[in-house]
Amino acid sequence: MAATILDGNKIAGDIRAEVASEVKNLVAAGTRPGLAVVLVGNNPASEIYVRGKVKACEEVGIYSEKHTPPDTVSTEELLELVHDLNRRDEIDGILVQLPLPSQVDSKKVLIAVDPAKDVDGFHPMNVGFLSTQRPGLVPCTPAGIMEILKRSNIPVAGKDAVVVGRSDIVGKPSAMLLINGNATVTVCHSKTHDLPGVCRRADILVAAIGRAGMITRDFVKPGAAIIDVGMNKVTERAEFDRLFAGNAKREETFRTKGSTLVGDVHPEVAAIAGAITPVPGGVGPLTIAMLMANTLRAFRLRRGSQVAQLAGERA
Ligand code: NAP
Repeated sequence: MAATILDGNKIAGDIRAEVASEVKNLVAAGTRPGLAVVLVGNNPASEIYVRGKVKACEEVGIYSEKHTPPDTVSTEELLELVHDLNRRDEIDGILVQLPLPSQVDSKKVLIAVDPAKDVDGFHPMNVGFLSTQRPGLVPCTPAGIMEILKRSNIPVAGKDAVVVGRSDIVGKPSAMLLINGNATVTVCHSKTHDLPGVCRRADILVAAIGRAGMITRDFVKPGAAIIDVGMNKVTERAEFDRLFAGNAKREETFRTKGSTLVGDVHPEVAAIAGAITPVPGGVGPLTIAMLMANTLRAFRLRRGSQVAQLAGERA
């Protein structure tokens, strides 16, 4: 039986609507969460991502502002900007879009972000909060993966989960969230022996590798839930044929655009998995939705008592 397709657009839409509803109540109470995005230089991909984030803020009612230092910016100048944003009470979230230019010490800039405003969840303090199960801010893509599982009624507790990829942004925090959800978790990487054999043990398989269609059907236990985080652009004909031979819709996209998007999971896996996230339209939409949810969460963690006070004054 073909896998259930886990509709990331639908789940992300639900989360955004929930955030919008809560923001509406906050605005009615006289306050509003705020997000500052720092976009350095003119990287076209970063510009697209930031545009999407600012648009999402507008849609859910979160205040947003964009700071666009030139790509000649120094580490010191960026630190000054971050410190300024840290000091401003109406800014709840600070997002520094990566990558930063090579002359900038990225780690120094990221660690300068106030952990209470670190809506990307990359600050070591938030990493520590996650691993010790304290309230904090969790990286958006891994948080989105857990929302997909939860809202699709895919049980995590007691299940065998395998995460392929150990990046600080996706692999490691996803593994930590699955551990916190009481799964038995194995983390794989480029040095893992018998990767297909390890993956075949998974009830939940998270692929965060960055290699087009690498997870083929011999990596998958029939019926498993497959979360495909990968986003890879296919431009070569031979690669396209390996992945999408006979798929008329993809053929059309490939012919007109010269490329198509594929995850780390081969499309053939949909025939044996129990459930699977598509690419595009799976994990991707959750990332921005969770950024909105994280900004609201940062607001609550930072200014929750202020809201209670406002409500009290109005009562
Ligand atoms: P990354 O930092 O490059 O990490 C890739 C991981 O995959 C590494 O741990 C690496 O192992 C492992 N790996 C590479 N080749 C492997 C192989 N042949 N066998 C086993 N493991 C292998 O990438 P990332 O930032 O985590 O992103 C992963 C993918 O997710 C990319 O396609 C990215 O575009 C996508 N992504 C999507 C979203 C979204 O919103 N949907 C968000 C973030 C990322 P080593 O550690 O041993 O090198």
